[in-house]
Amino acid sequence: MAQADEARRLQVNGIVQGVGFRPFVYQLAARYGLKGEVANTSAGVSIHIEGPVESLLSFEKDLTETPPPLAHIVEVKSQTQALQHFADFRIAPSRGEAVMATLISPDVAVCDDCLREMFDPRDRRFGYPFINCTNCGPRYTIIDDIPYDRPKTSMRHFAMCALCRAEYDDPLNRRFHAQPNACPVCGPQVGLLDGRRREIRTPDPIKAAADLIRQGRILAVKGLGGYHLAADAGNSEAVARLRQRKLREEKPFAVMSPDLAAIRGYAVVAREEEALLSGIQRPIVLLKKVHPSPLAEEVAPRNQYIGAMLPYTPLHHLLLRQGFPALVMTSGNRSEEPIAIDNQDAFERLADIADAFLVHDRDIYLRSDDSVVRRAAGATRFLRRSRGYVPVPVFLRQALPPILACGAELKSTVCITRADQAFISQHIGDLENLPTYEFFRQTIGHMQRILDVQPGIIACDQHPDYLSTRWADEQKDLPKVRVQHHHAHVVSCMAEHRLEGTVIGLSCDGTGYGSDGTVWGGEVLIADAAGFERAAHLAYVPMPGGAAAIREPWRMAVSYLDDAYGEGFDGLDLPVLREVGSEKANVIRAMIAKRINSPLTSSLGRLFDGVAAIAGLRSRVSYEGQAAMELEMAARADAVDLYEYGVDGDGPWRVLPAPIVRGVVADVRNECPVSMISVKFHNTVIALLADLCERVRRAHGLTRVVLSGGVFQNARLLAGLIPALEARGFEVFAHRLVPTNDGGIALGQAVVAAALSK
Ligand code: ZN
Ligand code: ZN
Ligand code: FE
Repeated sequence: MAQADEARRLQVNGIVQGVGFRPFVYQLAARYGLKGEVANTSAGVSIHIEGPVESLLSFEKDLTETPPPLAHIVEVKSQTQALQHFADFRIAPSRGEAVMATLISPDVAVCDDCLREMFDPRDRRFGYPFINCTNCGPRYTIIDDIPYDRPKTSMRHFAMCALCRAEYDDPLNRRFHAQPNACPVCGPQVGLLDGRRREIRTPDPIKAAADLIRQGRILAVKGLGGYHLAADAGNSEAVARLRQRKLREEKPFAVMSPDLAAIRGYAVVAREEEALLSGIQRPIVLLKKVHPSPLAEEVAPRNQYIGAMLPYTPLHHLLLRQGFPALVMTSGNRSEEPIAIDNQDAFERLADIADAFLVHDRDIYLRSDDSVVRRAAGATRFLRRSRGYVPVPVFLRQALPPILACGAELKSTVCITRADQAFISQHIGDLENLPTYEFFRQTIGHMQRILDVQPGIIACDQHPDYLSTRWADEQKDLPKVRVQHHHAHVVSCMAEHRLEGTVIGLSCDGTGYGSDGTVWGGEVLIADAAGFERAAHLAYVPMPGGAAAIREPWRMAVSYLDDAYGEGFDGLDLPVLREVGSEKANVIRAMIAKRINSPLTSSLGRLFDGVAAIAGLRSRVSYEGQAAMELEMAARADAVDLYEYGVDGDGPWRVLPAPIVRGVVADVRNECPVSMISVKFHNTVIALLADLCERVRRAHGLTRVVLSGGVFQNARLLAGLIPALEARGFEVFAHRLVPTNDGGIALGQAVVAAALSK
C-alpha cells in the first residue's frame, strides 16, 4: 500500500537569497517527486512541500546538508501543514513584504563550472573576464541598496542580451536570478590604458598587460573590491621599484599564483592551508617560505613567511595563465591610504606608481581589501577579515538592540548589530588620514543601508583622540558608550564563543587607552560583558617620545634598561646602545627622569619590541609590530629555558620586567644566539601569563581564560600558551571568527554597550 502523503512548511533562515537557493530547492523537490512551492520572504526562504513521509525526510536532510556553495543556513524550522494538493512544484514570486532582513552574500571566487566555460573555445563566454553564475562572483562590493536585485547593483548599467535573459529567467539554469549575469555581447568590458591614460589598442588587453608586466612594468589592475598593483614577483628590480613608488619600505607584499603547484615552488603548503587557499573566500594565506626561492627577496624582505593567494576573479585567471608563477598583487594605494576603487580615483592616486592600467567598466560600490589568514595553534586565525567573509555576521548568543560600534584606530573596522547578528565591516585601514576617515564614514552609511538598521546606541573607544571616537562624539542625538580598549578585546572573543558570565581575560597588545589615562597592553582582566576588574598587568615603564617609541624600539630598550639597571646603565655595553650612541641614549634617559613626553605603559607589545632591540634584532621599524614579528620568527630552537620574572603588589598584581631584561642582557653578553633568546623570552611570557591565571583562579575560582589583543597574532605564543593553560585545567578561548588585533574590537564594543544599556 502506498504511504499516505503529508505536508510541511519549512522556514529557512540565513544567507539564502541571491545564492541559487530556490532553484536548488526546485531541483531537490524534483529529485524526490515532491509537490509544493518555494518563495523568498522577509525572513529568508519559505517552502511548502508535500509527498510521502520518506521523501519529505530525505528532502529535509539534503536541504540542510548539501546547500549551494554560497548559502549559509542558520536555522530550518519545520512544521506539519494541511495538504494543499499541489499539482507540481513551483518557484513562487517573492512575498509582498519587503525582502529586507535577509543576508547578503560576500564576494566569492569564480566557480569551476564558470572556469570550464571560460576556457572552452566553443562556449559563448570563452575568454570572457566577467563570467559568473549564481554560485560565484561579486555581491557585497557591487550592491548599494537592498533588496539584492540587479537595479540595486552596479550591473544596472548593463542590459542583458536575449541569451543572458533566458538563462536568468530559467529556474533550471545555473544563472537563474544571477544578478551580475553577463556575456561579451552585453556585459562589462576590459581595457588597457597607458600611464597617461591613453587607450592601448589591442585585441587582447589581458595579454598585452601581461607583456608589460613581463617587461618589468607595474600595472594597476582593477579587481573585485578595488585595484591591485601588480608586478612580476620574480623580478627584483620591478618589485624594488614598486616599493619605492608606493613608499613602502619593508612591509611584505602578497603574491598571487595560478595554482597550488606554483605556490609550492616558494612556500610550504600543509593540507589545511591548501583548503584555505582554494576555498571560495580565497584569502591571502601566510605560508612558510622555502629556500632557495624563485621569488625576489624584495617581495617579503627579512621575513620567513609569504602571503600567497590563488586567482579569484575570471580576469585574474586569464592574467595568471599568461605564464607567471607568481605576481605581486598588493593593494592599489599609497602606503596608509585606502585602496582605490573608482577608475578616475585610481588614475589620480596611482598615476605616480603604475605604468599602465588594466581597467573595466563594472563599478565597485564598496571597496574590500583581500582577507589575510594564517594557521596557528591548530586553527585558522584572521589577521584581516575582509573580502570573501564580509558581510557574513557573527551569530550572537542573544538578540541585541541595534548598535553601531566604531572600532579603534589601527586596522579599523566597524560593527552593526541586528537582533542576534553582528556584522563586522570589511577592513577600513588605519584611521590616521582623511581618505581613510572618509572611507570609515562611507562604510557606516553603506552598512546601515544594506542591513536596513538605524542604530540607537553608539559604542566607541575611550581614547579621546581616535578619529572614530571623535566621529562618535559628533553624533549628537544618540547615546554613547565609551568602552575600555582591552575590555572590548576580551568581550569580542567572548562574543564569538558565545560565552556568558565572568572570565579571566588576557588582553595583550601594543597600545590601548587605559582607565587611568596610561597606555595599557599587558592586562589580566576579570571580565564580563558589562565590566571588568584589573587583576594584573605589566609594571609601568615610560615610553620616551610617545608614538616615536613605537617606531623606534631602541627607545623602549633604553627605557627597560634604565628600569632594570638604574645607575648601573652607564656600565652597560650592548650592541643596541653602541648603535644608538651614548649621546642619544642619555637624552632619552633625561626625558625619562624628567618625565618629558614619556607616557607610562604596561604594554606587552612594547616589551616584545624592547627585547627585540636589546637582542640586537632591530632598533627601528617601518611598520607596526615589525620588531615583535621578527622576534617571533627568530625563534628556531626548541628549549624549555626561561628568564626569571618578578611579581609584586596584590590587587592588581604587577609583573616586573626588570629580571627578564637582565636575563636577556646576560645572554646577549654571553653571545647567546638571538634564536635562543627569542625562545626563552616566549617561554617566559607563556609561564608568566599562566602563573597569573593560576593566581586569579585561586582568588576568584575562575577557570575560563579568554585570549585577545594583537600580541596573540604571534603563533608561537598562541601555540605555547593554549596547551600550557589547558594542562593546568583551564578552558581556553582564542579568536577564530574575527581578528585578535584591533580589527576585531568593534564586536566587543557592541556587546559591552548592549550590556551597559540594559
Ligand atoms: Zn560560477
Ligand atoms: Zn549577454
Ligand atoms: Fe588593541
